Amino acid sequence: GASVAGRYTVQRKLGSGSFATVYLVLDSKSKSDEDRKVLKRILVGELKGDETVSSAKEAQLLSSLEHPAIVHFYCSFVELDSFCIATEYCEGGDLDNRIRDRWGTGRLFSERQVLEWLIQILLGVQYLHERLILHRDLKTKNIFLKNGMIKIGDFGVSRILSGSLDYATTFTGTPHYMSPEIFTCSSYDTKSDIWSLGCVLYEMGALTRAFDNQSWVKLVHQIVQGPSPTLPDCFSSELNAILQRMLDKDPTKRPSATETLKTPFIEENVKSLA
Ligand code: ADP
Ligand code: MG
Repeated sequence: GASVAGRYTVQRKLGSGSFATVYLVLDSKSKSDEDRKVLKRILVGELKGDETVSSAKEAQLLSSLEHPAIVHFYCSFVELDSFCIATEYCEGGDLDNRIRDRWGTGRLFSERQVLEWLIQILLGVQYLHERLILHRDLKTKNIFLKNGMIKIGDFGVSRILSGSLDYATTFTGTPHYMSPEIFTCSSYDTKSDIWSLGCVLYEMGALTRAFDNQSWVKLVHQIVQGPSPTLPDCFSSELNAILQRMLDKDPTKRPSATETLKTPFIEENVKSLA
């Protein structure tokens, strides 16, 4: 296949969005066990000098992150008109696809499965938040599976390129997971990630989005003023209570990742899953 940066051989295309294309590549400089990587290529046009510098700093920070629930970030570089990011490959694909696979079957995931995923995601988010790193784009499409284990990915892009690209270019995502405070006072902190995580929890249980509407205006109204959805009846009241706290309209009332992991119900399950 084609070669990128004289180092990566493209095996196949995994997908593409409006500005990025994602490839499965072989890294010729890597040792045999982890030679398969993902290369994300983002069309950016020309970056200015100072933007290149801040990108390099940010890339250094991201590559220093090591956690079992975080997609490992190897490196980033500029080639021609594109910004490229090399990350760990997750052969299980993303959670959005796992959820869609269930649509035709009428079967929900078990509480145990949802809890196992939730706990792994919380551990990854806790790791980021302890380092004052915000994900900013938590959604089922950005949560991957590798050997049956959760790996949170795709937070490098918005971090590295924020400031280099205008909002319309950076924001290619969906508003479905955005917290009320983003719309009411355009503020974002760790609790906004927790809101998005609540939306992901609901989706793992119900297989549909927590907030969904064809109309942007109605969707935002639902997020800011509408009631929070509850999990289907087969899930425990304890899990549903956690969901309700994560989806509190007031960010200060939402639990942190650490606090959520410390609720007795989650702690019991961490023990039984270990
Ligand atoms: P989106 O997230 O909007 O689907 P992306 O450009 O982020 O678009 O990803 C395109 C495709 O590549 C998706 O199907 C996604 O699941 C897949 N993908 C992205 N990163 C990885 C990864 N690290 N491992 C495996 N698949 C990935
Ligand atoms: Mg993605």
